[in-house]
Amino acid sequence: MTGALHVLTDAAKLVWSSSRRLLLIRLALAAAAGAVPIGIAWSTKVVLDGIAPSTRGAAWTALRSVLVLALLGVLGVVLPRLVSYVDRQLMRVVGLEVRSRLYAAVAGMKGLTRLENPQFNDRLRLATDLGPTGPSQLVGSCLSVVQSGLTIGGFIGALLYLNPWMVLVVALAAVPTVRAEIGLARRRAGTMWELSAANRRELFYADLLTSLTAAKELRLFGLGNLFGTRMLTELRRINDGSRRMDLRELASQGLLAVLGAVVAGAGLVWAVLAARAGALTVGDVAIFVAAVNGVQAGLSAAISSVARAHESTLTFDHVRYVVRTAAEPPSPTQPHRPAATSRLAPLRHGIELRDVWFRYRDGLPWVLLGVDLFLPAGRSTALVGINGAGKSTLVKLLCGLYEPTRGSIHWDGSDLRELPVDEVRRRIGAVFQDFMEYELTAAESIGLGDLTRWGDRHQIEAAARRAGCHDMVAALPSGYDTMLTRIYTDLADRNDPGTGVVLSGGQSQRIALARALLRQDCDLLILDEPSAGLDAAAEYEVHRRLRDHSRDKTSLLISHRLSAVRDADTIVVLREGTVVEQGAHDQLLAAGGPYAELFTLQAAGYRTEPSDLTGVV
Ligand code: ADP
Ligand code: MG
Repeated sequence: MTGALHVLTDAAKLVWSSSRRLLLIRLALAAAAGAVPIGIAWSTKVVLDGIAPSTRGAAWTALRSVLVLALLGVLGVVLPRLVSYVDRQLMRVVGLEVRSRLYAAVAGMKGLTRLENPQFNDRLRLATDLGPTGPSQLVGSCLSVVQSGLTIGGFIGALLYLNPWMVLVVALAAVPTVRAEIGLARRRAGTMWELSAANRRELFYADLLTSLTAAKELRLFGLGNLFGTRMLTELRRINDGSRRMDLRELASQGLLAVLGAVVAGAGLVWAVLAARAGALTVGDVAIFVAAVNGVQAGLSAAISSVARAHESTLTFDHVRYVVRTAAEPPSPTQPHRPAATSRLAPLRHGIELRDVWFRYRDGLPWVLLGVDLFLPAGRSTALVGINGAGKSTLVKLLCGLYEPTRGSIHWDGSDLRELPVDEVRRRIGAVFQDFMEYELTAAESIGLGDLTRWGDRHQIEAAARRAGCHDMVAALPSGYDTMLTRIYTDLADRNDPGTGVVLSGGQSQRIALARALLRQDCDLLILDEPSAGLDAAAEYEVHRRLRDHSRDKTSLLISHRLSAVRDADTIVVLREGTVVEQGAHDQLLAAGGPYAELFTLQAAGYRTEPSDLTGVV
């Protein structure tokens, strides 16, 4: 309960800071909308009492009441519309604020550990999907409760003033409604929860059936029917569940509506009899009828608002969780961190890994098992090893995307964890194995590598030349201004300058390389396995270019093709998370160890068949 109160105060603060004017207007509207039904009922009573023959000389009062009644009638129609406009506007304004906080928090997370945590990821998804509407809905629902409370309180006050017995009758008539609404709200929440897993699976299959990435396998293996059937099965389960819920709602609401009407009817009989006996006026009977309806309707509105508020509390709580968790340091064991403003001097000696152990999460197998490695400044180091040896993991650790589980990484002698991570990253240019392809123009895709050169066409072209993709980009329909995309477009759109072209894997990789090379003042260049998009000769050429470009820079070249990196100053062989051998190509060949064995095997492989033998290291 205190948790819900915290969520509510947070939501109210957020709405207040996003737009206090709208919130105040909404508050005033809630008060007015709550009071209008009572005003209408009271004026009706006065008008009716004015018509009655027993009252004389009250014509003027009655006329005034008629005017007030007409005015209130207009308000009664206009106010709900105004409320719903203000609610929607609040939702837009607050949604913008929630999104900006949410995405700032996620973008500000330094490492990947938390993003990869399934629990965090689940809540992040819920927060981005439903969270932005949470606070305004929560505040709106609470104001609806206040509004209904005002109406109910007003009616009860008016009845108390007229005849306290009527309060008792009205309260009796409201009991069935309250019971029904509370029960239904509980059931509804339960059903939603039960069906959420089916909903998730249904969406997963629906995505799969329409996704471009899955399209090839779906067709080749003929999986469309299988996934289609599964999607429909889930959908039927969801439909069944919600139909049962609707039926239950119909039955209990119908029954209780009848019950409520019976009690109200009995109350009416009592009121009419009392009026005939002279205990109540005609106007009193009118206000009684309005009060019975008003209290019943007000209570059911209040209860469904509470249920909605409860739902919004849950969705907004996901946002709070994500924002709070994202701001926490990734690991409790980290040493002292300096102020984010401290500058990092250019790399002079090198980067050293000291007995680095790493696993992605507790309970998962170790990926790096005590790696000792020195990357000397100004030299090129190659890292070779089969798939799964831990090469890409090592790259991510160097970029500060994860911290070593044990051991440490030192940048010119300083522990990476004690350096400002943004500064360190500014010093690194990297092409990751799973690099990004952006839906931007070619110039923009390259310019992303260094935002200070974003609009500098000269520098961008120079980077493309160094990456060996200038001619390819220049030959695109609009040259550097051509949109790059991953979606195949209609032939008819070909001449539309907004239409993108689809690059091959190797071409995209060159763009990614140009992006990394645009960072000229970085200290460390990393190229992780460009072999996905390149043949052996092209990979060798890319590595050579990178080395030439970074003659006096520190570079880390990664490949499972030994021939591609044979010119590196030092070659390090990584096997199952440990360094098994290192040295220059000739040295290693002469030593006749694992490297020599593998190199001979791969060379033989190239002579006899085009595929490279990678599974042997
Ligand atoms: P390499 O680049 O040498 O092929 P990786 O560093 O990519 O090897 O992977 C090493 C091991 O770490 C593999 O067993 C892989 O399954 C595991 N691994 C890689 N990334 C993750 C991740 N994000 N979460 C959990 N395990 C991972
Ligand atoms: Mg890899």
